[in-house]
Amino acid sequence: MENIAVLQEFLKTSRNIIITTHQKPDGDAMGSSLALYNYLQNIGHQVRVISPTEFPAYFSYLPSCDEVWNYLENPSLSQIAIESAELIFCLDFNDLGRIEPLDSHIKNNKNAKIVLLDHHLHPKIEATWSLHDVKACSTCELVYRFLSLFDANYIPTKEVATCIYTGILTDTASFSNGATNKKALEITAHLLDCGLNIIDVQEQLNQNGREEKLRFLGNALFRNTIIREDIGIGIIVVDKKDAYRFNLQTGDTEGLVNYPLSIKNVKVSILVKQEPKIIKLSFRSKGEYSVEKICREHFEGGGHRNASGGRSFLSVEQTIDKIISIFEKEHLV
Ligand code: 5GP
Ligand code: MN
Repeated sequence: MENIAVLQEFLKTSRNIIITTHQKPDGDAMGSSLALYNYLQNIGHQVRVISPTEFPAYFSYLPSCDEVWNYLENPSLSQIAIESAELIFCLDFNDLGRIEPLDSHIKNNKNAKIVLLDHHLHPKIEATWSLHDVKACSTCELVYRFLSLFDANYIPTKEVATCIYTGILTDTASFSNGATNKKALEITAHLLDCGLNIIDVQEQLNQNGREEKLRFLGNALFRNTIIREDIGIGIIVVDKKDAYRFNLQTGDTEGLVNYPLSIKNVKVSILVKQEPKIIKLSFRSKGEYSVEKICREHFEGGGHRNASGGRSFLSVEQTIDKIISIFEKEHLV
């Protein structure tokens, strides 16, 4: 990060700081935001984390999660907070479109300086300070690296360790996907020395769920999964009826998209999720094949080589047809 000395100087005075992250925050978005929140709060700043949308209830174990504002629940106060901030941290997103509708308030605040910490391809955010690395396993890795650069003597507290580990664990799909790197393991080893309890995190994330969510998973895999080994893809469809029948909550489809990849000849898996106004798409791939390009070129999205997202304005059926016709030409197998 260039000119970090200027930021160090700037933060010697107590500042009004906003931390924000992408819509429907995942473990990395929540973990990185709250790691930074806990650090900055401890050194005497006025800090507020604002999420553009709701976030999954199962992240409530993250220290200070109660302090996070959902913009949609409190737009006017959020607007005041964002437009009067002196410093805004943008975490885990590469494009202001990913934080709609609060992006306009950031644009309105001409005085705030921006710090970007992100690991997505093709960043489009102009920042005064930027730590952007597509090789980072997670934005939590970048928060850890940022804190080490910012304060050479810094030792994470147990709270910060829990937040950082959560992002590393979730963005690497438990140290198993293409994002997994040496740093993920080194940082985790250090965090264990700082009081991290990995069993507690595992219990909170994977052993604290609802029966409806388990039944939903079974139904989705049994009834609503299309496997096309001939073209190397698997598609899982979640429509509004399923969402109603299984009382789906924010975050309940997290991880679902990975299941078709367990089949040998499935190289790309897609989750097609019907939302009130659009169809949200999640793409995952194995190995070198990049789903980021497909999302960017066909579905107004982006992300990482092996994990990307996008959207469709077609019907569910038309979206499935479009996906199939794209992959008929990709020759994955
Ligand atoms: P997920 O499938 O878990 O929602 O997202 C996978 C990755 O793609 C994440 O890193 C996420 O930030 C990115 N992503 C998801 N949806 C979009 C989108 O609509 N636009 C862009 N640019 N990135 C997305
Ligand atoms: Mn991330």
